[in-house]
Amino acid sequence: MQTDKLSVAIIGGSIAGCAAAIELQRIGCTVNIYEQSEADFSERGMGIGAPVDFLSTCQDRNLLDSDIPNTSFTSRLFIKRADNGDDAPLWPQPMFSKILNWGLLFSNLRKRVQDTSYHRGVQLTGFKELGESGIKILFSDGSQGHCDLLLFADGHNSLGRKLLFPHSKIDYAGYVAWRGSIKESSFPFQDEALIAVHDQGHFMSLYVPDGDGSIERGQRNLTWIWYCLADESQLKRFLTDRKGELHATNLPPGAVTNNNKKNLYRQAEQQLPPTSARIICATAEPFIQTIYDISLPHYSRGSACLLGDASALARPHTGSGAIKAISQAILLAKSLQQHSSLK
Ligand SMILES: Cc1cc2nc3c(=O)[nH]c(=O)nc-3n(C[C@H](O)[C@H](O)[C@H](O)COP(=O)(O)OP(=O)(O)OC[C@H]3O[C@@H](n4cnc5c(N)ncnc54)[C@H](O)[C@@H]3O)c2cc1C
Repeated sequence: MQTDKLSVAIIGGSIAGCAAAIELQRIGCTVNIYEQSEADFSERGMGIGAPVDFLSTCQDRNLLDSDIPNTSFTSRLFIKRADNGDDAPLWPQPMFSKILNWGLLFSNLRKRVQDTSYHRGVQLTGFKELGESGIKILFSDGSQGHCDLLLFADGHNSLGRKLLFPHSKIDYAGYVAWRGSIKESSFPFQDEALIAVHDQGHFMSLYVPDGDGSIERGQRNLTWIWYCLADESQLKRFLTDRKGELHATNLPPGAVTNNNKKNLYRQAEQQLPPTSARIICATAEPFIQTIYDISLPHYSRGSACLLGDASALARPHTGSGAIKAISQAILLAKSLQQHSSLK
């Protein structure tokens, strides 16, 4: 079987899944994405920092539009809370980065995947290697599929990883990321990225294109992330939503309990410099991600392979997952072109 004529099943239709589908289709593979969620992903995104070279590579490869909305910053201002409670500037670090809106990044990739190849509401439950005859894939509705190459782009809680490497474990990293986004117009501020450091963690805020692509001053989103140390015993409380349901690793916007929100605002006011605390307190619906470490001895076993967050989570986790996922998709396509067999 020529590696550029493979039939490929991709589990997970987010950033890694869509990027892989585009790259593999272009080298001649037949690709199908199976995504369990029926939801529209484009609304949930925050900011993705993209090095300039990386953005150019994606545009040159026609993975992203040449005019995909982006903001940029030229320095990161480090601050801390002074003894008198004011902001105390520490260091303006020169640094240039582009910032993309996660939802716009996703929709740029998604529109390059044919609708006939993207199957929503389909959940993989298992697979069976058939030797030379490829792989049988099993779905929760009892239906089955077939492929030569099975790609698991099914995120940090990957079923694929558990099936391929049953002894793998995901380790709580000892900290959580509180996150949020507000309209810039509700909080006029400055152009540089802000990093507020303190004993128990650090806070970062950035300007991100609005979901409709606006990048003008006053129209952008001001998104933030606050990494805080948190004892594992606190996670149950953090991850229980307003209806009392316990989630595995994340709570989306709108699900954090009023009590946890009040505690977050109070802690921000006590620990952070006032500018960063004000941004957090102005956020009506902050949300939380718990941070895990994942590393595996291999990315593949037989004719199945892990991609994106399913394959590895490297600190600081929320900052580079999308970049890593797209880079892996590009490398996978190049590698398939260079080899005549999957073995
Ligand atoms: C809606 C959404 C918004 C996000 N927003 C941000 C953000 O603003 N900033 C940021 O840094 N990161 C964000 N992320 C995370 C970021 O996209 C990832 O870290 C990174 O892009 C790697 O993506 P991934 O495709 O490997 O995994 P993910 O983006 O986690 O996608 C995994 C996909 O696999 C699907 N899936 C899982 N199991 C199965 C199964 N058994 N069968 C079928 N499908 C399955 C899931 O529904 C999901 O769509 C977001 C992720 C999502 C899903």
